[in-house]
Amino acid sequence: MLAKPARVSYASPVRVTDDALLLRRFRFGESSLVVHAATRSHGRVHLLAKGVYRPSTRFYGALDLFDTLRLEWQTGPGRELGNLTAATILVRRHRLAADLDRYRAALTILELLEVGLQEEQPAGELFQLACGALDRLLTWPLPDRPLVEFELAFLQNLGLAPALSECASCGGPAPATGFPDREPEESRRVLFSAQCGGRLCADCAQEARALGRRVGSLPEKVLQAAARLAEPHRPHALPLDAATLVLVRDVAARFLEYQLQARPKSYRAFLSGPHRNRIP
Ligand SMILES: [Zn+2]
Repeated sequence: MLAKPARVSYASPVRVTDDALLLRRFRFGESSLVVHAATRSHGRVHLLAKGVYRPSTRFYGALDLFDTLRLEWQTGPGRELGNLTAATILVRRHRLAADLDRYRAALTILELLEVGLQEEQPAGELFQLACGALDRLLTWPLPDRPLVEFELAFLQNLGLAPALSECASCGGPAPATGFPDREPEESRRVLFSAQCGGRLCADCAQEARALGRRVGSLPEKVLQAAARLAEPHRPHALPLDAATLVLVRDVAARFLEYQLQARPKSYRAFLSGPHRNRIP
């Protein structure tokens, strides 16, 4: 006699628990909220939080941007929207919303996190990078530094990091242009192309230009600073002056913009800012 097959009900909901950062919130109907969340093990998820605006809500104060949350939801095959059943705050970062510059930097981190995540794909390392960057935004005197560190780590995590020390095309040395030995270190420049993946040697730059690619030049000290910030176990105390940091951010943001083929919304103000005209 054949064994009776086990009964599987595809309709029964599955209960899921995961750590999360909220990416977006949309009001839904009179009293509910739809949230898009980045999770540690399930990538990007879309959840419905019912009755969130009712006085008796169990989600009271627990669905804010920037906090690390533990969410519990029910989902099932074919369901685009999970049903949020519980939310607990693991790390509260409400102070990020009290300062406009920190708030903007924190939004940029969330925006990049959203770009880097897939639905139902675990991305624990990226999730952890974002949580660490939000934590540092709270403690660092100015937001630029934790943000640029995150941008460089984000590119590395996606396998898109720019070549900062060697030539992006041939992997060989890519010395400063002109007569670097006769120039003060401060004014040495190197060839750089986002289209080619970063720093270039003179031969590869010539080839790239012949193929119609854009090649520019940047102060060598900016790429050296970016390389130091991109080291995985970088010393957070590494001193870096504010002017160089802005230029590193500019390189990282433009490189990101090119690699992602889109300008994240939160970059608009930064990339059209007056610092562009100060690049030596
Ligand atoms: Zn080369």
